[in-house]
Amino acid sequence: MATVLSDWDDRLVRGFRFACRPGCALCCYAQPRVDPDELSSLRAAHEIPVLRDRADVLHVRSYPDGGACRLLSEDRCIAHLVRPLVCSSFPVEPYAGRRSWQPSVVLSCPGLSLAPLDDWAQGVVPSEPASGLDLELRSARRRALRPRAVAVPVTAAAERRRWEARLRRRGQWVDYDVLRTTIAAGVAKIDDVELPGEEPPDLSDGRELLPIFYDGRSGPVSLAAHPLGWSLDKLSPRGGVARSLGVFPIPTEVPEIDDSAARRLAGYLVYWLHRDQLIDEALLAASTDAQSRPLETWVRSELAWIRATVLSRAVVRAHAVGEYTRILDRAAIDRGIMASDADLLDRGGPGAIP
Ligand code: SF4
Ligand code: SF4
Repeated sequence: MATVLSDWDDRLVRGFRFACRPGCALCCYAQPRVDPDELSSLRAAHEIPVLRDRADVLHVRSYPDGGACRLLSEDRCIAHLVRPLVCSSFPVEPYAGRRSWQPSVVLSCPGLSLAPLDDWAQGVVPSEPASGLDLELRSARRRALRPRAVAVPVTAAAERRRWEARLRRRGQWVDYDVLRTTIAAGVAKIDDVELPGEEPPDLSDGRELLPIFYDGRSGPVSLAAHPLGWSLDKLSPRGGVARSLGVFPIPTEVPEIDDSAARRLAGYLVYWLHRDQLIDEALLAASTDAQSRPLETWVRSELAWIRATVLSRAVVRAHAVGEYTRILDRAAIDRGIMASDADLLDRGGPGAIP
């Protein structure tokens, strides 16, 4: 059965307010993908070094050692009007979900308010439309129609059918929406977690692979594994480290969080639960699990791991800004979410556009 996703489910962008933050440039510490027609437009006005990756996809080169895209100058894109769709759609990320295209927002972007997560914490889909994201949503739709993306729903559906068939043979298949309803109600009880969750890589494969986040100062901060713990470094646009913020012990003890922070974190987990990407990951894991643990177990384990990742990064960021307290508040959890979301989304999944 061919799968053509004509539907566009906007539930995961509803309620979000966006205004790009001057001086941030977090999303420009990247090598943006360019299609040949985009490259022609860019090259009509600019000298652009490009690279071709193993999947034969072209990218605008960044400065070496984790630097910014070569088109960034003084925290502004010099090719703003002809920037690639992957840039003009940010922070909206489309994913070919099980029933429709499923755009969600990259919560590492400091131009977004995280307030809609409070609705998700109560199991409510925000009713307000997104605000300030019209252009980004239009660009995200255009990305989903590009030649590189059109096959993604078909291949993703084929993979899901294969994984689902294995679970059906074991009598363990559960529909995504049924899983969500079952798990969302008890998401706050997913607190038996082991820190630190997703660990950052070390520098051996290059600074480009490190998780980065905006910390309120110009230029992003990277998180890297270090022999003494985790190091936080403010990056320079021309590559390398502008300033070290320190090396901090890897958090291993689950911190206490106050009620407001707990609601925000629960909202984030429910938000992830509604991203098909998470259940796709769990479905793959369940279908290849030698111990035949049920799909629900794998979904809960994914959520526990996300919770651990956010808590670890919240602790380290709190230490880095000198605001660590024994009980983490909502601001600390927000910092943990912002330091985690892009990294977690980067894992891809069958519905991700290459
Ligand atoms: S990360 Fe968000 S706020 Fe920062 S430059 Fe990009 S779109 Fe703007
Ligand atoms: S093309 Fe422009 S918007 Fe895109 S990453 Fe480069 S500088 Fe940023």
